[in-house]
Amino acid sequence: MLMTEAKGIPVELVSATDEASEDTTEKHKRQRQEANATVVDLLTNKGLYATVDATSEVGDIVEDILRQGQPIVFDTYCVRCRDRSTFRTQNERIAARSISSRPGQVVIQPTIFAVQVVCQRAAHVYSYIFAKRGDDIVKIGQIPSTADVSFGELRSIDKSLEPDDRRELGTALGLFAHGTVLGAFVYLRRVFERMIWRAHERQSESGNPIEGFATMRMDERIAALKDELPASVVQNSGVFSVLSIGIHELTEEQCGKHFPVLKAVLFQMLEQEEHKRMAAITASETEAALQRILSNPKG
Ligand SMILES: [Zn+2]
Repeated sequence: MLMTEAKGIPVELVSATDEASEDTTEKHKRQRQEANATVVDLLTNKGLYATVDATSEVGDIVEDILRQGQPIVFDTYCVRCRDRSTFRTQNERIAARSISSRPGQVVIQPTIFAVQVVCQRAAHVYSYIFAKRGDDIVKIGQIPSTADVSFGELRSIDKSLEPDDRRELGTALGLFAHGTVLGAFVYLRRVFERMIWRAHERQSESGNPIEGFATMRMDERIAALKDELPASVVQNSGVFSVLSIGIHELTEEQCGKHFPVLKAVLFQMLEQEEHKRMAAITASETEAALQRILSNPKG
């Protein structure tokens, strides 16, 4: 109503129909935003065989976006630029024709369709293929794979990875890229738990051991290690309560939902570990240089 008044239209002239259409516009806008977010999640986070229910209102818009290649702009890691970049979606014509049972009878839209997303820095292309199976849209192909994109993103800190972490992180990303969500989650969780133990060791070495650490739940451990972990991990420690749930209690759905979050956090923690390692090297080199000058000030 405020907007209407601002346009100089007397309030009493605004009919119920106008209000209803305003609501409808808002609803469409919200659904469109939700659909855009679903598309970006499907392209950048989800592994193969991830599905979207196309019968819901939002799912219907998602299908339209993917089939028509309506432009959506988002940021993700570019394996060719070796940096984060802005990408834009467009549809890619593939030789898929509509199917009809007999001429003039039931016609089905192509069941396979493709989307390209193009890096806006240098036209690098990521390609995706989807299939419509019953009510669902299924992601059936992608190049580069989500594992390639994730590993590219890791490259800047790759050297500092512990061999066990590197191997298990690779297994996690590979399993996720091929739709084995539960297995992927379990491997990622093992890497995450080792990183938490390393943070605990660092804190103990600096003279502040945490009592009862071994029996704490994951969210309690994170809270206790606040000085050693990135702020975003500490602020969202509730998210990690899922890590205290037994493997047999986890569902595929829970794992699929938490995998991208845990992966993002893990990368952030690895980067922080690398920064700390580099800072320690720089500090000891500076110290050594200062000592050399002090021992021979005229040198
Ligand atoms: Zn690029």
